[in-house]
Amino acid sequence: MTIITRFAPSPTGQLHIGGARTALFNYLYSKNQKGKFLLRIENTDKERSKKEYEIQIVDSLKWLGINFDEKIIYQSDNIKEHKSVVDELLKKNLAYKCYCTNEELETKREEYKKKNINYLYDGKCRNLKEEKNIPFVLRFKVEKDKKILLRDGVQGDVEIDTNTIEDFVLIRSDGSPTYNLSASVDDHLMNVSHVIRGDDHKINAIKQILIFKYMNWKIPKYFHIPLIHSEDGKKLSKRDNASTTEDYKKIGILPIALRNYLLRLGWSYKDKEIFNNEESIKLFNLKNIGKSPSKLDFERIKSLNEYYIKNLDENILIENLNTYLDIYFKEIKKDDKDIIYKNISILKNK
Ligand code: GLU
Repeated sequence: MTIITRFAPSPTGQLHIGGARTALFNYLYSKNQKGKFLLRIENTDKERSKKEYEIQIVDSLKWLGINFDEKIIYQSDNIKEHKSVVDELLKKNLAYKCYCTNEELETKREEYKKKNINYLYDGKCRNLKEEKNIPFVLRFKVEKDKKILLRDGVQGDVEIDTNTIEDFVLIRSDGSPTYNLSASVDDHLMNVSHVIRGDDHKINAIKQILIFKYMNWKIPKYFHIPLIHSEDGKKLSKRDNASTTEDYKKIGILPIALRNYLLRLGWSYKDKEIFNNEESIKLFNLKNIGKSPSKLDFERIKSLNEYYIKNLDENILIENLNTYLDIYFKEIKKDDKDIIYKNISILKNK
């Protein structure tokens, strides 16, 4: 079996360091297994997806030396396939039209909230016989009273009662496919063997497994990596100023230092701290991914950066510095640059 992994960012913002770590783990695992690493841009949310973010994400991956195989796959190119899967589900009576309006659902959600009950769609339209001539969404008909097993390679086996999963939406009322539908269909079309991604997608995995199961497709192996928390233990947010790869790039962190840092964030190999690219490919495995969230450690990234500044081949260091100055110090004169480069052996130790 060929190992195929993928990184599937939505181009709705700059590459987050959690995303960069996910991409790195997917890349390293596929290379370790002599498989393929694919990049899929999940751009079906037309309003929030921006070309500039896609470019930033691709550039950041390149900057970090995370190279993908083949051409970029755009989720929006597969919309026809996403919809045809729903046609099949409809034929098998595994999907149905739901005419409930947003207002109606919102009122119910509020009622549940007041009673302190977890809201799930109540299945009002599940067994409707007649068609109506008003807008509708298409929902997956989740089979009741079943247990679904998520074999998570990081967290272990989790058994979920299908009565706790609502009939989730597959196609919105404007005809657009939802993330769970598109992601499962694309993972199937791309023959993805291993889905390695953030912990926040664990609940989605159950819905995606349901689609795989009822379409009789081979279910990929899932690995949900615990999220990265900020230094004070909270969920990392954009306001932390250390949440995107750009935040690190602009303060002069070398890509090799950031990559090494991300590798050790939630993964370990004995007590080895520094890995060059070949070593990281050779030694990476999925079984050493930790089960608990990792915490950002800014001192650690700075000390790794210092290590690489002092130890990198000077020509490579100058190349990195030159790129950095060209982006962030455009007005610097060539003569001044040359003075810095000439004295790099002394300067790098400061
Ligand atoms: N577009 C989703 C995200 O960026 C992808 C999740 C997945 O890997 O399935 O979170």
